[in-house]
Amino acid sequence: MDETLDVIIAGGGMVGAAVAAALGQAGLSVALVEGGDPPAAVADDAPFDLRVSSLNLASRQLLEAVGAWDFIPAARRCPFRHIEASDEEERHHIHFSAAELGVDNFGHFVENRVIRRALWQRLAELPTVTTLCRTGPVAWVPGGHRSLLELDSGRMLAARLVVGADGAGSRIRELAGIETRDQDYHQRALIVNVETRLPQQDVSWQRFTPAGPQAMLPLPGHHASLVWYDSPEATLAREALDNDALRQAIEAAFPSRLGGIEGITGRASFPIRRRHAERYVRQRLALVGDAAHVIHPLAGQGLNLGLQDAEALSRRVIAAFQAGDDPGGRQPLAGYARERRPQTLAMIAAMETFHHVFTGAAPLRHAAGAGLSVAERLAGAKRQVMRHALGL
Ligand SMILES: Cc1cc2nc3c(=O)[nH]c(=O)nc-3n(C[C@H](O)[C@H](O)[C@H](O)COP(=O)(O)OP(=O)(O)OC[C@H]3O[C@@H](n4cnc5c(N)ncnc54)[C@H](O)[C@@H]3O)c2cc1C
Repeated sequence: MDETLDVIIAGGGMVGAAVAAALGQAGLSVALVEGGDPPAAVADDAPFDLRVSSLNLASRQLLEAVGAWDFIPAARRCPFRHIEASDEEERHHIHFSAAELGVDNFGHFVENRVIRRALWQRLAELPTVTTLCRTGPVAWVPGGHRSLLELDSGRMLAARLVVGADGAGSRIRELAGIETRDQDYHQRALIVNVETRLPQQDVSWQRFTPAGPQAMLPLPGHHASLVWYDSPEATLAREALDNDALRQAIEAAFPSRLGGIEGITGRASFPIRRRHAERYVRQRLALVGDAAHVIHPLAGQGLNLGLQDAEALSRRVIAAFQAGDDPGGRQPLAGYARERRPQTLAMIAAMETFHHVFTGAAPLRHAAGAGLSVAERLAGAKRQVMRHALGL
């Protein structure tokens, strides 16, 4: 076995890599264990990938603080300055403008692979961070002074803290015996990348229908990512349509302001589930990102929540390290869980409410629709929602 590291992170996705960058930048010794390959470079003119996330202001600030933001090329990020939501008939709607808060934008849409690549480029600059790819944990042994992690290669690692950032099906969570509360929404999200006739828009909009929301996420140039939630049966049938039939279905069902569609460049669908870990920490172990919580993606907040976990955990671990205390000790971990669980529970509750009122019985839907119009007129409430959208 090698020497005892400060931290081992299992999972080199966006959240695990963000934790590694924050800790490595502060001088902690870190091993990042990733089951797949390191992220490949993305050419400026490459077609857009299907997995796209909205990074709010708080997430951008974290990426800037860990030195990764500048590795995201301007050609691959799309700022949005307006957010709009409406009911199915578009009788009731609400509109948020970043200018009302005195900021340039609410955030950026960026492909997941570009965010991940930027973080790994930053990791390559940090001498105390080691990355181990195509391997994963098979056993975890907690101890008074350190945790041991055995990898499938037979290698044994030891650290003051093990972080599980290995996604929704987290092996670390399983090895630590942490249960989850799960819910299947009986919905799928069809993601369709399209070339639009209209040039890039700086608005992210969403329309709530009884079958689920429809959303348009702008991408640079004449591109957009459409998200269409529906029952699993309807979604799978739509996903199987040929490009021309799918284009016609979108033009018929989506609001007319989308404009015409020149072409379809990619599609995939995902089941919509919620999963929440019963606890975020155990002795010398912490869960972050989707390993701790998977929420309904209708408001595009899953990654933002995960990056807030990364910020909160690394802030507390670094503070302990710099004070000469144990970075994997009880205090930073308990503080992390106390800070993050209520935030996630509040976000889950908000997503549940949106999901249930807009897919519920007609009177409830109408009341919810009317609520959008009322909120549109309540300056204080609007401001509060906008601050949430920024992640503040
Ligand atoms: C349809 C859809 C749309 C979404 N849109 C948005 C959005 O607009 N905005 C937003 O904020 N969020 C969005 N999300 C959520 C967001 O994609 C996730 O919250 C985010 O990807 C979680 O990042 P993560 O790093 O925690 O996990 P992951 O991205 O799952 O990364 C986990 C990493 O761990 C690795 N790994 C897995 N198992 C092991 C193992 N045993 N050993 C070692 N490594 C392992 C994987 O290879 C991977 O690299 C969306 C989700 C869905 C389904």
